[in-house]
Amino acid sequence: MYIGIDLGGTSIKAGIVTLYDSNVYDHKNIPTPISEGKEAVLEAIYDLIKTFDLSEIKGIGIGSAGSIDPETRDILYSPNLFHDLFPLGTFLREKYEIPVMVENDVRVAALAEHHYYYKSIRNFICIYLGTGIGSGIIVDGKLLSGCSNAAGEVGHMVINARGSLCACGNNGCFEAEASGQGVLRKARKALESERKGLLFEKYNRDKASLLIRDIKEAALKGDPLASNLWEEFIFFLSLGISNIMTIFNPEVIVLGGGVLESNPEIIDEVIKQAWKSANPVSARTCSLTKVNLGKKASILGAGLLFLEY
Ligand SMILES: [Zn+2]
Repeated sequence: MYIGIDLGGTSIKAGIVTLYDSNVYDHKNIPTPISEGKEAVLEAIYDLIKTFDLSEIKGIGIGSAGSIDPETRDILYSPNLFHDLFPLGTFLREKYEIPVMVENDVRVAALAEHHYYYKSIRNFICIYLGTGIGSGIIVDGKLLSGCSNAAGEVGHMVINARGSLCACGNNGCFEAEASGQGVLRKARKALESERKGLLFEKYNRDKASLLIRDIKEAALKGDPLASNLWEEFIFFLSLGISNIMTIFNPEVIVLGGGVLESNPEIIDEVIKQAWKSANPVSARTCSLTKVNLGKKASILGAGLLFLEY
């Protein structure tokens, strides 16, 4: 048995995982004391681990947002946690005698999807479409890490050279054009300059509550600005996915994340476009579908870090 932990900017979720089934046992969830600093977050993780009986635990796996050092397993940078080094791997290894692993949260979620649903598939990609865009890539049955553990940062692949400014400082990154935050940022900018139409009326009533779903609904009712925004969103999402398909030639791509959960019809729209622009040989053999595991994927995948991947 292993402890799997999903460390996010708002909550820390943990549970016992067996690696034999996709259940999370003794599931726990606490808020991340992010505003109190690194030490408080570390203490919260220790306190959470303390609530489990460690006598039969063979390892502690953590999935965290951000870039992870391949040697120390420290978090080098995480936009949702700390913008500089958080030496999580080093501290946990000093504290516990059992093995500890820290890996990027989307990568561990990809491991869990692959392990429990697509084990016989050798080339598999999991893309999470939420506030940003992240991926976990499995090539020839192995999780792709890259020489400095930075492979799979698809969110920062530039797909529109003169496009929107990304949080990373570049213009036109995949996530600046097609993530939840990216699309809403573009929508607000367009609405503030246009100031008319169905979507503007909705936005003007409560500016903070604009959702991707609102854009789709206004587009369906014939609002021209919303139609343009939705078309552009699907265009860039499809372009990004078709590039990934062309480069990696996967058999299966699964899509997950908050934006997809609330707009599942995106998949059919992306299939129509991405399959036209991808390399035809790759497109013929690739399928795109929704993730199976939902929110427990990162806890399950954190446990799987102890299998040979
Ligand atoms: Zn970027």
